[in-house]
Amino acid sequence: MNPIPETFGSMVFNDSVMRQRLPKDVFQQVQLSMTEGKRLDSAAATVVANAMKDWAIEKGATHYSHWFQPMTGITAEKHESFLSPVGGGRVIMEFSGKELIQGEPDASSFPSGGLRATFEARGYTAWDPTSYAFIKDGILCIPTAFCSYGGEALDKKTPLLRSMEAINRQGLRIVRLFGNNRVTSIKTTVGPEQEYFLIDREVYEKRKDLIYTGRTLFGAKPPKGQELDDHYFGAIKPRVAAFMKELNEELWKLGVMAKTEHNEVAPGQHELAPIFTTTNIAADHNQLTMELMRKIAKKHDMVCLLHEKPFAGLNGSGKHNNWSICTNEGVNLLEPGETPYENAQFLLFLCAVIQAVDDYQDMLRISVASAANDHRLGANEAPPAVVSMFLGAELESILNAIENEAPYGNVKKEQIKVGVHVLPKFPRDTTDRNRTSPFAFTGNKFEFRMPGSSASISGVNVVLNTAVAESLRQYADILEQAENFEACLHDLIRDVIRSHKRIVFNGNGYDEAWIKEAESRGLLNLRSTPDCVPYYLAQKNIDLFVRHRVYSETEIRARYQIKLDSYCKVLHMEAQTLLEMTRKEILPSVSAYVRDLTDSVLTRREYSTRSACRFETELEEKLGGLVDAAYVKVLALEDALRNLPKDDSLRLAVFYRDEVLSRMEELRHDLDEMERLTAAEYWPLPTYGDLLFSVN
Ligand code: ADP
Ligand code: MG
Repeated sequence: MNPIPETFGSMVFNDSVMRQRLPKDVFQQVQLSMTEGKRLDSAAATVVANAMKDWAIEKGATHYSHWFQPMTGITAEKHESFLSPVGGGRVIMEFSGKELIQGEPDASSFPSGGLRATFEARGYTAWDPTSYAFIKDGILCIPTAFCSYGGEALDKKTPLLRSMEAINRQGLRIVRLFGNNRVTSIKTTVGPEQEYFLIDREVYEKRKDLIYTGRTLFGAKPPKGQELDDHYFGAIKPRVAAFMKELNEELWKLGVMAKTEHNEVAPGQHELAPIFTTTNIAADHNQLTMELMRKIAKKHDMVCLLHEKPFAGLNGSGKHNNWSICTNEGVNLLEPGETPYENAQFLLFLCAVIQAVDDYQDMLRISVASAANDHRLGANEAPPAVVSMFLGAELESILNAIENEAPYGNVKKEQIKVGVHVLPKFPRDTTDRNRTSPFAFTGNKFEFRMPGSSASISGVNVVLNTAVAESLRQYADILEQAENFEACLHDLIRDVIRSHKRIVFNGNGYDEAWIKEAESRGLLNLRSTPDCVPYYLAQKNIDLFVRHRVYSETEIRARYQIKLDSYCKVLHMEAQTLLEMTRKEILPSVSAYVRDLTDSVLTRREYSTRSACRFETELEEKLGGLVDAAYVKVLALEDALRNLPKDDSLRLAVFYRDEVLSRMEELRHDLDEMERLTAAEYWPLPTYGDLLFSVN
């Protein structure tokens, strides 16, 4: 017996468990609510709840929890035991349909961006039947959406589900136009590649910056970093291998299809990629993956760093969002087809993505913006902050031929007519998979490389789904009225290529020259979070989300507020941490070293006049000077924190970026120089070398 297929999904209340444990009619109702969003009636909900409870108790669970994804970007749960008193000091285990369908956590402390005044602080959680319930740590977890009393989304799941509906609605209109009446639903699929660092727990615990902020706020460059690229795909160390093994096993039990694992570029950096699945499930699974990574690392006396940029000067961590569109029959709509019609349909969906990325580059940039990811984007190892798309030479020349009504390849001297000609075959993955592009077509899916490693993937996929739904809506509006479908389709595709080709760039995205060219093409270069967040409120973006019923205007404004608040909070904590470490750990240690150097010079001079004590005197002078200079920078940073603008969140965020972050960086410069010069026994903290090479 192979134990993996045996245990895969063993902690998931999935279709096969439901088929076994539910009466046929109830099972069918659940299926309908999963595929078509039909509401389960309360009698059926009671049956499902009971079956879930019995199954969970057999697996050792004692509690249930509505598992939800507030706007903190991580998950939340509040446990309720199944216990219910029946008199005489006895209890039974109970779980009602009502408890399954709806919960009411007292959730007033989650960020709501002003959506919820505290006097009506109640939030509701509502069962999402499209994502299976599962058992984690003896708790039956029910995936739920989280809304306010007035029905506004307070979480990351609700808008994602709404965006799935939007692309389903518009996508169906398109496939119908191509004569497909069998398809009943269209979904997007995602496979997120998750990067992370592992470091030893003992050294981690000595760094308050890692503990409080998840990243190092200073640290001199170690003699060895990632120069040799010897870590990338290198042999996996035994401790890391043991961690990966346990992680895989736990993920498989939860039905997460963890598939590839390897060492990444920086020392201590690794990656895990699952097999792709429906987007909203992929989002749930990615949350579970991040949670388990953290937990299992601890069991192995390590700490998993999910921060986008834990170490300056080394690669940061991202989360490549591989995304495609798929019918319920399993046809990938971004896969080139065999017949002229399939080809034409492929080209139209491709155009929908090109137009979406061009029209909503600002929203895509916002969807990945955070204080942490700002350190990564545009830093020459991650995609630039400019959004552009890579299609590959082959596909681009096909699009050129269509755009210019010119002949192409084996379509003999004739111009390509979309919907009439078979497209020339273009091989997949032949091109040098451009690694510098933020948004790359990789044969039958797009890979969006800007998302940061710690973020929920919901935000980016809400934007992708909705923006593509909007392109599709516009195309369906035109094509449904067409007198000659083929001619209309041809012209439409040609026009979309003409209007949106500026977003396509196949060259090196890290090149300075590209940034200049991008600006001349009119593409946005939004370098930091405060630069891009105002675009949230652009009328075209509000119109997009309102039209497709993904966000109301109030919900958008709340998210704008939360983005700014969390940016400011992160920078505030970082500044406070840096000040505390400088004042309490670094300056006292270095100053003690300076004093001892001076003492040693004085002592030696008393006994010997021959020694120039050059090492000690020069060092003492240099370090003494650095301590003074750093202290001035401490005062300047403290001063900035005392003068925060109070009136407006955007102004505050800009101030944090220009006045606080920049002063932190100046101070860091001196601290790193001190670290380089201070004797190891005096330096109070683990160095980059200690942290990066701590796991053997
Ligand atoms: P890379 O070469 O970029 O490291 P991998 O092949 O390791 O990429 O990972 C690619 C990811 O893309 C995997 O998670 C895979 O499941 C996912 N993927 C493949 N096909 C699709 C698709 N049609 N839709 C969404 N994701 C997909
Ligand atoms: Mg990748």
